Amino acid sequence: FAIVISPLKSPAQELPYQDASLSVEERLNDLMSRMTLEEKAGQMCQYVGIEHMLKASGNLTEEEMKKSDAQGFYPGIDAEDMRELVREGKIGSFLHVLHAEEANKLQKLAKESRLGIPLLIGIDAIHGDALVEGTTVYPSPISQAATWNDKLQFKASQQTAKEMRATGSHWSFTPNIDVLRDPRWGRTGETFGEDPYLVGNMGVATIKGLQSDSFGPANVIACAKHLIAGSQSVNGINSAPTDVSKRTLYEVFLPPYRRAIQEANVFSIMAAHNEVNGIPAHMHKALMTDLLREEWGFEGFYVSDWNDVSRIYSLHKVAESFQRASELAVSAGLDMHMHGPEFFDHVVEGVKNGSIPSERVEQACRAILEAKFRLGLFEEALVEESEVAGELYTPEHQATALQQAREAMTLLRNDNILPLQGSGKKLFITGPNANNMTTLGDWASPQPEDKFITVYEGIKELAESKGHSVDYFDIGERSKEITQAMIENAAEKAGAADVAVLVLGENSFRHDWPNKTTGENIDRASLQLSGNQLELAKAIHKAGKPVIVVYVSGSPISEPWLQQNARAILNAWEPGSFGGQAVAEVLFGDYNPGGKLPLTVPMSVGQLQMVYNHKPSTYKHKYHGTPKKPLYPFGYGLSYTSFEISQPEISATKTDFSTKPVVSFKVTNTGNMKGSEVVQLYIRDDYSMVTRPVKELKAYKRVELEPGETTEVEFRITPEKLAFYDMDFHPVVEEGDFTIMLGNSSADKDLKTTKLRVTKNIELIE
Ligand code: BGC
Repeated sequence: FAIVISPLKSPAQELPYQDASLSVEERLNDLMSRMTLEEKAGQMCQYVGIEHMLKASGNLTEEEMKKSDAQGFYPGIDAEDMRELVREGKIGSFLHVLHAEEANKLQKLAKESRLGIPLLIGIDAIHGDALVEGTTVYPSPISQAATWNDKLQFKASQQTAKEMRATGSHWSFTPNIDVLRDPRWGRTGETFGEDPYLVGNMGVATIKGLQSDSFGPANVIACAKHLIAGSQSVNGINSAPTDVSKRTLYEVFLPPYRRAIQEANVFSIMAAHNEVNGIPAHMHKALMTDLLREEWGFEGFYVSDWNDVSRIYSLHKVAESFQRASELAVSAGLDMHMHGPEFFDHVVEGVKNGSIPSERVEQACRAILEAKFRLGLFEEALVEESEVAGELYTPEHQATALQQAREAMTLLRNDNILPLQGSGKKLFITGPNANNMTTLGDWASPQPEDKFITVYEGIKELAESKGHSVDYFDIGERSKEITQAMIENAAEKAGAADVAVLVLGENSFRHDWPNKTTGENIDRASLQLSGNQLELAKAIHKAGKPVIVVYVSGSPISEPWLQQNARAILNAWEPGSFGGQAVAEVLFGDYNPGGKLPLTVPMSVGQLQMVYNHKPSTYKHKYHGTPKKPLYPFGYGLSYTSFEISQPEISATKTDFSTKPVVSFKVTNTGNMKGSEVVQLYIRDDYSMVTRPVKELKAYKRVELEPGETTEVEFRITPEKLAFYDMDFHPVVEEGDFTIMLGNSSADKDLKTTKLRVTKNIELIE
């Protein structure tokens, strides 16, 4: 028992903004009153972490870097210059500081600045803090969406926040709540798929996990991105223009943003690379300020995407200089610039010449500082370097990553072969994604070998434990470099085995630039397997042994031939650190797959745009020679057991919403293996004053059942679930009939229906 006497604080030494006993508001007011215009503008500037910069500029040592400015990340500025800028208070934030040691060094420099304002450190911790070595890599966002399990996503995000704080980061550039409408877009794997409701739920879960309800020193801030509609760019190419009607914006793209703001209090939003209806997103005042901030109450700050302010000038050609571009962006509502020099001078100059209202700089600086206060950085900006290792990749985090990988596994086809049973089988494994880090997906750095499991390793370990043997053929990692000789060799080996497992797919692993076939800035003109993978599969199939295909890919793969000829197809997505284990468990039946597609997989690129929630007239006519059905519908995924979903019952067939009707039904596991089913509720407004989608997802639940077990599920029908924007863009529920559809995919044949009549028009208050 010890009495601790805290040292007396000398009032002369502590300024009000340094006094943790004051409110954030009081501290902010005090600090802002002491700051010069330059210091305020400094808070709006973000730079890339020095280590990262040194690496990206060709692995120069710091010494070499100093000598060779011109080759630097920021021409004319070397690492020492950057340190000086921090000391001068001209940098408020860094991104991609990959080590606690570096974060501490930078924070110490910031402490030396006149006001000692700590740095806000951001990172793309998109699925775990995966850019940092030794962290837990959770499945990529599209994989997370395939779990249809928001609670697990919340947990994974909470754990990610912990790992981030341990290494000195406070701000994750996630969630990506772009609603995916064109799977050619290379960033498909970074999204939660094509449905605004599912995207909104996963987005809210991610933000709440990272930020908690009201973020503080134990949390990080989230960043909803990218405002807006980059997933519907012309031709599916990243950064290309988006031309999208007001109605589509309001019905499809904006709802997840609104929920991120109003349900989850997201504290930052990133603008998109693309223009939106002719206006570069980075200077879109109507979206950033008028709608999201003023109408919907966004209280955090906007950050630019990578160099996109200058692109208002250099790419979009709307401004004639970076100076003018900065003025347009900041005046429209942009608060922080990612990344590098010049912007600082432009902001200062812009305020001085009257092109940027000084209130804009006040507002930007205030919100950024608010984040720093609330995150506790003024009290403690340094992290305990000796404790980092103990905080990363903990058994608890590993368990969540494994569970998320399992739940993401989506079985697309199974012709009586899975799960592999018995023992003594000879398995043959090959494929470009069989034995490497493609399972980690985009925004991940290479992880230590003992901290992740390849698909081959996972299968080998489990197969051998069950008395099977495994032969592996290394076909290289580049799908386009699979040669005829390799194909023949592989086919021969497959012929000598009992079953062949082909691990195919695409590669978005960030570290692997030359080999990437999808990801940011690597879009796809075809949804088929890249390179010679299909040839490989055909040759192996010809060898006469059953072929099981595992797709490792964040982007959908459309191979109708494999759907016809492979005995099974398991979509493993980008399952993270434990992907290999999760795949193996599914193949051998130790885990029963229950993932569902968060997007439609078309039969071909020619069918695009293909989404389940299309308008009634979309398929009035046929294509010549191509079906109008998808290869796999949204919401689809098989199980090793069977489920019976009862006819939905509704508590009232007519309502004026004085009470809210409830749809109830039973789900029974009618097979003989434990498993989970995602029950999905879709609604259609039968007749409406403007055209409405043929169905829209409005509720879902993942239920896990033992063989023979039944559970009852209820979904409450609220007016919001029936509402749409009328001709004047007011949310209304129109009287009339609604079709309620319930089932285990979005395909009509998988849905049972009932009707609900709304007896009066209702206007929703926004
Ligand atoms: C991406 C963002 C990302 C940023 C920082 C950009 O190229 O579009 O999503 O957060 O880089 O890495």
